[in-house]
Amino acid sequence: MEDILKNLPNKAKDTHKENKKFFAKLKQKPPKHLDSLMQELHDEEFRRTDCLECANCCKTTGPLFTDKDIARISKHLKMKPQKFIEAYLRIDEENDYVLQSVPCTFLGPDNFCSIYDVRPKACREFPHTDRKKFQQISNLTLENVAICPAAFNIVEEMKRRLKS
Ligand code: SF4
Ligand code: SF4
Repeated sequence: MEDILKNLPNKAKDTHKENKKFFAKLKQKPPKHLDSLMQELHDEEFRRTDCLECANCCKTTGPLFTDKDIARISKHLKMKPQKFIEAYLRIDEENDYVLQSVPCTFLGPDNFCSIYDVRPKACREFPHTDRKKFQQISNLTLENVAICPAAFNIVEEMKRRLKS
């Protein structure tokens, strides 16, 4: 996994132009079966991917925290929401609450998340490859393929499948 993660940014760079073109076309005319195709590709990829060997999303980006996330996690940690915000979060350029620093404070050395059951919605949904109307998050996906090896493979397979 170490090598895969080391090479991923370069591989993403090499495919960026092609991916941009592919997603522009996809946005113009998304195939009718796109939702079911994405579910299939996502399930196939995550059957072979062990996130515990990777944790690159937790190490390099971190999620945004909604008010609901903050309420749920601070309750779990027996902290007042405001204290939780002061301890762990900051407001980013888009006015969202994000982690003060990465790797995420809640990530253990064994790659386990210490707040897994109450983790932010964005963590649960990352890399969003099984969401409906996938064509609507192409800009985000263009970034995610440089972070997440599973998202990279899913997009590569998606290009192969939609070519024919
Ligand atoms: S909250 Fe958990 S799943 Fe989310 S980034 Fe932190 S360690 Fe990873
Ligand atoms: S979601 Fe992607 S980046 Fe995050 S741990 Fe799993 S494979 Fe790695």
